[in-house]
Amino acid sequence: MNKDVIEVKDLDVVYESKTNVFGNVKKIYALNDVSLNVKRGEILAIAGESGCGKSTLAKTLMRLIEPLKGEILLEGQNICSFKGKAQQKDFYKKLQMIFQNPYASLNPKMKIGEILQEPLLINTNFSKVKIQALVDDVIGKVGLDNSCLNLYPHEFSGGQRQRIAIARALILEPEIIIADEPVSALDVSIQAQIINLLKQLKDDFNLTFIFISHDLGVIRHISDRIAIMYLGEIVEIGKTEDIFIDPKHPYTKALLSAVPELTANKKKEHIKLIGELPSPENLPSGCKFHTRCPFAMDVCKQSHPAEFKFAGNHSCKCFLYSDDNIKNSVI
Ligand code: SF4
Repeated sequence: MNKDVIEVKDLDVVYESKTNVFGNVKKIYALNDVSLNVKRGEILAIAGESGCGKSTLAKTLMRLIEPLKGEILLEGQNICSFKGKAQQKDFYKKLQMIFQNPYASLNPKMKIGEILQEPLLINTNFSKVKIQALVDDVIGKVGLDNSCLNLYPHEFSGGQRQRIAIARALILEPEIIIADEPVSALDVSIQAQIINLLKQLKDDFNLTFIFISHDLGVIRHISDRIAIMYLGEIVEIGKTEDIFIDPKHPYTKALLSAVPELTANKKKEHIKLIGELPSPENLPSGCKFHTRCPFAMDVCKQSHPAEFKFAGNHSCKCFLYSDDNIKNSVI
């Protein structure tokens, strides 16, 4: 069995900001008790509405945000305790990120060759010859030829720029790549090319990805497993097919019911959620989804549901699966 490349345990992120001149502080609960693991060669997708905490999770894993509590184990080492330049360098060699916007993520003043050399110059002692060989190799892996190394980012289309951003993420041969909405800024016709490229790279080089997206159609195509987030919490996690064929959590069911079907004869019931996403400054008591859930019961307002486990490492947090409800056939 493949080993865990990354394991996240009980992660909490809380932002604090002053609300007035008297120094009153408001707290924003961005991540709450997030735990997950990703195995080598796996693509774990993180899905949910805007504001659910997906990007905060990505930034926390990249150490751009300090968690209030919890652990992030990268190959067994807690990266939250990494200090000093040497450990930081080691960390960034192992964990790389692809950002949403390829128009903003590449330095417009640098040629593509320089952009790709930069991580090697900062993080390794490789010779110039070796660096050039690695740059030539990586640009081929993303489907571009090395004539583009002398050009600037503005001379490329959005899809080509995202290929260059992927090449930059690959050049240090990281253990894991976090892709934060990597195709949402691209034209639909280009999205499929980039998704297929990521899938091909994963298969060819046994790469490991955390893939963040609000687009469940894209996620179904690329991921091995899916974690569904709601208000900073993972409410359901399981294999991609299990989540799509037999979703358990009412929020997952509502999200999936909004995905358009390509087959015209397949009618799907659209589950309409009640109300707006609550503010993370003012989280609902008990199950955070109870203010919008069509199945909410009294217990949902008072207590937080534990994790209920199903076959195939599929689990969700919802009282509908408590023993009493199953015995009384509430579901
Ligand atoms: Fe709905 Fe209750 Fe389940 Fe929360 S615990 S998703 S409110 S049924």
